[in-house]
Amino acid sequence: MAENQKKKEDELWERIMDDMKLRGEVGAYGFDAYISKLSLRADTGTKLVLEYPADMSLDWLEINYAEVLALSAARVLNAARRIEFVTADCVPANSEQAEGSEEPAPAAGPAKSGGKKPAAGKHSARPRRRVLLNSGLNEDYRFDNFVVGGSNEFAYAAALAVAQADARRYNPLFIHGASGLGKTHLLQAIGNAIRERDEDTQVLYVTSEDFTNAYIDALAKKGDALASFRRKYRKADVLLIDDVQFLARKDKTQEELFHTFNALFASGKQIVLSADCAASEITRMDERLTSRFEQGLVVSLMPPCLETRIAILRNKRRQWKSELISDEVIDFLANNITRSVRRLEGAFTRLATLASFSRRRTTVAEARMQLKDMLHEERGSEVSIEEIQRRVAEEFDIRLADINGRRRTANIAHPRQIAMYLARKHTESSLQDIGEAFGGRDHGTVIHAARAVEQRIAKDSSLRELVTRLGAALA
Ligand code: ADP
Ligand code: MG
Repeated sequence: MAENQKKKEDELWERIMDDMKLRGEVGAYGFDAYISKLSLRADTGTKLVLEYPADMSLDWLEINYAEVLALSAARVLNAARRIEFVTADCVPANSEQAEGSEEPAPAAGPAKSGGKKPAAGKHSARPRRRVLLNSGLNEDYRFDNFVVGGSNEFAYAAALAVAQADARRYNPLFIHGASGLGKTHLLQAIGNAIRERDEDTQVLYVTSEDFTNAYIDALAKKGDALASFRRKYRKADVLLIDDVQFLARKDKTQEELFHTFNALFASGKQIVLSADCAASEITRMDERLTSRFEQGLVVSLMPPCLETRIAILRNKRRQWKSELISDEVIDFLANNITRSVRRLEGAFTRLATLASFSRRRTTVAEARMQLKDMLHEERGSEVSIEEIQRRVAEEFDIRLADINGRRRTANIAHPRQIAMYLARKHTESSLQDIGEAFGGRDHGTVIHAARAVEQRIAKDSSLRELVTRLGAALA
């Protein structure tokens, strides 16, 4: 029994970590150094008790990770949990159970559509088999909980066709769209649907980042690590590769993916890819690869319209069984958070979590207050000078410190001028402020830089293209 309980907790913890990974809210370093070292000791129905190694700083954990952990837990469980950290030498888990009388679970258990899964009581942390182990799939992303509207119907139909078709008619399928619009959801839904139909189909979902890391690991290890890396990817019947834009500049990994791609393609295996922009817009990506990406079916995801946003929120409310979020609040959210479904869901989760603790209906005024930071970000669409500097530095492969520093070498002066030009064009900042942000230069330098770039653009079409592309990415 205790064994069983432990297994359940480990499983739930795995799911929460998967959610965090998929969403990329915690960087790879934070994940390795902190999250992966925690373990779930208990789920009391109102809080998750997480155990941390004695040498870890509790303050650090609470400041940096408590909120993301709570949000991931809420998403996985469709119910709110507080996060409590305890050290390894604290009272054993069982004594927590005495606390069971504390409060009943605030929001009801999961009520995923599909109906197969029993909606049980508070420990209903879905004691399901993780049959999908090693496939990288997360069962929460399915077609039946993807809300379809004009902005995504084509991508949805294409994904569904790939999941249902036996013949590889759309190969590869390439899905692109801005962050938070459902790319990962669709890739995962394809994998889950195929697995559901036939358990023996080898489905492999991988983010490009994981693919890269696994490849680098394999290279570093001696022996047959590389061969087994290749075997793993080349024996897939369906390979789902998320966020390929991450491979920009990673020449050797691109090469490896190119061969993987060809091997799979030649043997009629399905490949599905996603990126946050069109394949041809991914900079520093081998053209052989981008043209492969586009040789099948290419579909894009756009930001959802108001009706779809409302439908997504209502769907979420049904899953949460939360009566505490009214239609007015849903309308308010849908009207004010427009660019990303992830943010929309984040806002909902935050409000539903708070409401379930206070057990009161949230008012629009409260929602406005609770989401102040998010709403501010939505409105304040102006890019910062720093963001521009960061992008330009990335583009030219130089350090941020070089762009806003004093050095005058040509390889730095040129990108710096471009960054100044973009800051002039894309921010409301004054010449003084821009100069200040670039290592305390005076406003004359900024004017000079902007003019110089303008003149060069007039003559140099590849520079013009570069500047246009950088500008578009900022908008
Ligand atoms: P991306 O990979 O494009 O950045 P995700 O697939 O991670 O975006 O989507 C962000 C969040 O929004 C996920 O929780 C996902 O389930 C949800 N989501 C996105 N689009 C929809 C949709 N049309 N219906 C329901 N949920 C959606
Ligand atoms: Mg994604």
